[in-house]
Amino acid sequence: MTRRAVHRRPARDGRNLARVTAALAAGAFLLLATSANAQGASGAKTPRNVLVLFQEPPNIPMIVELNDGLRRVLQRAEGVSVFTEHLDLSRFSGPDFQEGLRRWLLAKYASLRLDLIVAVAPGAVAFATQPEPLWPGVPVVFCAVDDSFSPEFEQLPNVTGLVHHYPIRETMELALRLLPTARAFAMLGGASAMDLQWKKPLEAAASHLPADLRMVELFGLSMEETLKRLEGLPPGTPLVGVTFLRDGAGRQWTGPEVARALEPVAPGPLFTPYDFMVGRGAAGGVVLDFFKVGEEAGRMALRVLAGDRVTAIPVQRSASARVVLDARILERWGIPARRIPPDAEVRFRTLPPWKEHPWVTVSVGAALVLQGGLILVLLVERRRRRVAEAAAGESRAAVAHMNRVGSVGELAGSLAHEINTPLASIQNSARALRRLLSARGGDVDEDVKTNLGIIEGEGQRAGEVIRRMRAVLRRDPGRTARLDAAEVAGEALALAATQARQREVDLRLETSGESMSVDGDKVQLLQVLLNLVLNGIEAVSAQASERKKVSVRIFPSVGGIRLQVADAGNGFDPAARARLFEPFFTTKESGLGMGLSISRTIVEAHGGRMWLGDDPGGAVVNVELPVAPVHGPTRLKESP
Ligand code: ADP
Repeated sequence: MTRRAVHRRPARDGRNLARVTAALAAGAFLLLATSANAQGASGAKTPRNVLVLFQEPPNIPMIVELNDGLRRVLQRAEGVSVFTEHLDLSRFSGPDFQEGLRRWLLAKYASLRLDLIVAVAPGAVAFATQPEPLWPGVPVVFCAVDDSFSPEFEQLPNVTGLVHHYPIRETMELALRLLPTARAFAMLGGASAMDLQWKKPLEAAASHLPADLRMVELFGLSMEETLKRLEGLPPGTPLVGVTFLRDGAGRQWTGPEVARALEPVAPGPLFTPYDFMVGRGAAGGVVLDFFKVGEEAGRMALRVLAGDRVTAIPVQRSASARVVLDARILERWGIPARRIPPDAEVRFRTLPPWKEHPWVTVSVGAALVLQGGLILVLLVERRRRRVAEAAAGESRAAVAHMNRVGSVGELAGSLAHEINTPLASIQNSARALRRLLSARGGDVDEDVKTNLGIIEGEGQRAGEVIRRMRAVLRRDPGRTARLDAAEVAGEALALAATQARQREVDLRLETSGESMSVDGDKVQLLQVLLNLVLNGIEAVSAQASERKKVSVRIFPSVGGIRLQVADAGNGFDPAARARLFEPFFTTKESGLGMGLSISRTIVEAHGGRMWLGDDPGGAVVNVELPVAPVHGPTRLKESP
């Protein structure tokens, strides 16, 4: 596309009527618009109509981005309606086409009061303003205009806008920084007027590059020819292009399509000054961000709509250029990271996971460390528990042994008692019989005397044996020591803990808080409490979970120190209650029936007493032990 002349041509007759009508209508609208503008600053709700004229068709990515940015800003303003037209001037040109298009647009928008025209790219600006304004009196804001075009637009009345500098030279210099050994540089462009218009700026930029670099110009060729020429270039030759809308064979192209077509044969990466091409086949460049250009144009449009006079808004220079690169393409061409400028935005970089997601990495790392620590603690804990369980097992075995020994003692005690009485009466009877026979005198058979003597003697011997056995089985007076009742109870609960855990029973120790000392044999007292607690566990193990509770309570009582073992089971069988302390009395299938009787013997040997309590919520067994005297330990009572 060549630059448009600024001079005014006379309007052609064919469109005079439409022009005059439009001018009159626009004049009337202008009056309205001016008064509306006067209110505009205060009355934001007045409906406003904005017509956006794009030079290019809507499928070009830069147009999509610019339109997005523009609409994003305009739609935020209340009461603004946006109308869009794509003039397609790069593909369709000629005075007849433009004339037809003008007429058609005037007719289309005749019934609408336009408040502002936004013209995107030089062709659209010229279309709306030259040779004279298409909608006279309607302000025009332009954008996407290279600064080489701006002088001619800056002079137009009622027109302002944004210009920017296409960073073509900067893009080419960036390419050489990344590929310092390149011996050639290919400049690409299509065959449309718009495409050819970039030839000069590219050549101008190339004149600043090192003189020994071979510049290859590929403009206006068919795509086929372009590819063939590229194939002949030395490997590592970078390519640069601005637009390629139509090739020499008349085929239409978009930027991403061109990049895809070049890829198989290109001798080096493609650089362009368009942000949207990064990620669509280009290695990158010093790029313009057209979304931002659209936003900037939108903000300027809002100022005009709000009533700012166009003459008061100077043409602005957009500053949205920056280095953007596609890491995947740099990698494909073996470009090392150290050549990338420090201020570059590198997209699609595959960072190591800890750099890409630092917080996730830190969290996962912390979780692993925590988990490791936890596993270690659990392992240590498990070992400790095993050691403790082994120790508890030994203690339980010791208590069980004590129980067995106690049972034998208890059994022997009752046997001795039962045998002693008949034995004594046998002896007495034998003695009485011998005396009777001696008193009668006369002939008493010596054999009878001898046998009576034997009965007496053997009876005595049997009595002796029983007495000795009772002496042997007499309960060991115990290793008396001063004990803390709560400590002993705690140990008994620890010994029962494994069984409680297996049966999911909750064990509790409830103390009144003060220290209570007793004198006694620790193992024997442990034996008593363990018996009672195990009975409790057994009593609740078939209960619902909320009743699976066994408590040992310790509190001072009138008679000394009270230890109570309570459970939430079914309580004592009322029919059996009176016999529960009898040796060998049990209501359990595999019970021995010695626990309660041995326990009571031990408690009594400690000077205490033991009895069953009444509790509607389960079973209670009471043990009362004397408080340890202030001076010296008490000796345990000897059992019978
Ligand atoms: P064993 O437990 O071997 O039966 P014990 O002398 O310890 O021997 O208990 C005797 C009986 O007393 C038990 O068979 C049971 O009927 C009753 N008994 C003991 N403790 C409880 C308790 N906590 N709840 C209900 N009954 C109990």
